[in-house]
Amino acid sequence: GDSMDNGDDPGGQSWQRANSISIALREWDIPFEELIIGDKIGSGRFGTVHKGNWHGDVAIKMLNMETNLDHQAQLQAFKLEVAMLRKTRHENLVLFMGACMKQPHLAVITSLCKGHTLYTHIHMRKERFQMNRTVIIASQVAQGMGYLHAKGIIHKDLKSRNIFLESGKVVITDFGLSNVTKLCHGNRKGEYLSIPEGWLCYLSPEIIRRLQAGAQYQEIELPFTEASDIFAFGTVWYELLSGEWPFKTLSPEAIIWQIGKGMKQSLSHIQASRDVKDVLMLCWAYASHDRPDFRILLKHLERLPKKRLARSPSHPIQLSRSAES
Ligand code: ATP
Repeated sequence: GDSMDNGDDPGGQSWQRANSISIALREWDIPFEELIIGDKIGSGRFGTVHKGNWHGDVAIKMLNMETNLDHQAQLQAFKLEVAMLRKTRHENLVLFMGACMKQPHLAVITSLCKGHTLYTHIHMRKERFQMNRTVIIASQVAQGMGYLHAKGIIHKDLKSRNIFLESGKVVITDFGLSNVTKLCHGNRKGEYLSIPEGWLCYLSPEIIRRLQAGAQYQEIELPFTEASDIFAFGTVWYELLSGEWPFKTLSPEAIIWQIGKGMKQSLSHIQASRDVKDVLMLCWAYASHDRPDFRILLKHLERLPKKRLARSPSHPIQLSRSAES
């Protein structure tokens, strides 16, 4: 039996909670030996992603644990996040299949995304989508994200690299592992927080300002919220419209300064209607409480004209007609 007398133990309640999570997680435990690990796909802040096989093709995210940290705390943080991942069941979210929960092999197993990320489509292949496609993609992202928020989950790392297009369908990845990644290798360079390329422009002013204040300390808690996810969504919308990142010519220091002060990327070079740009301005509102939620955003997106684009000789891949006004 797992029962234990918690009589006058003040930590008893949290112990019980941890224990009941452990029991609930048993059916999601995948023995590491059952996995066939294939080629490495890439690596991120927490470790490496491999192609693999477990009853079919899967993606295996292997966590790279800091060896000198408290193992129990790591395992507990990991289990809490796995407990959350198992609740994510939506068409536009990567399918969570299970996790290896025994040290030293901590890993998250998800379905393998075929197709490419929005990052690859937009920034590597320089592809541009027509307005109706752009709206469909953004709506699917908003639907997946709205679902996460309804489940009380904040993505914290929404960006075009974490959005796959799988035969036209949006699949969002990389949500939910943020607490455990703080405890992983590769998140730091010496005493400094390392800033991955193309990351800053997704961060809302309230987060950017915390970076400024405490970037040299590893343990800073960044204030991620639903509203900061909305800000990041705005940046994805900008990428879809313009084919580039906001502030693309500025140094990280300049981006931190500009966003922290509430400066926004100019939209004058974007050939799109007022309504299209309004979505950006809503998402990028300086005060977090002025940003809409995904339900409201979806309504705005639905109202956008989906007609095909007028092409002008000077802008052969123009996204939409500019506003008449
Ligand atoms: P960060 O950790 O800072 O978010 P990242 O998103 O580049 O960085 P990972 O999320 O670790 O890094 O992903 C590493 C690589 O694995 C990326 O190229 C990503 O596209 C790929 N990848 C992640 N999940 C899947 C998946 N489910 N299917 C296919 N490829 C995946």
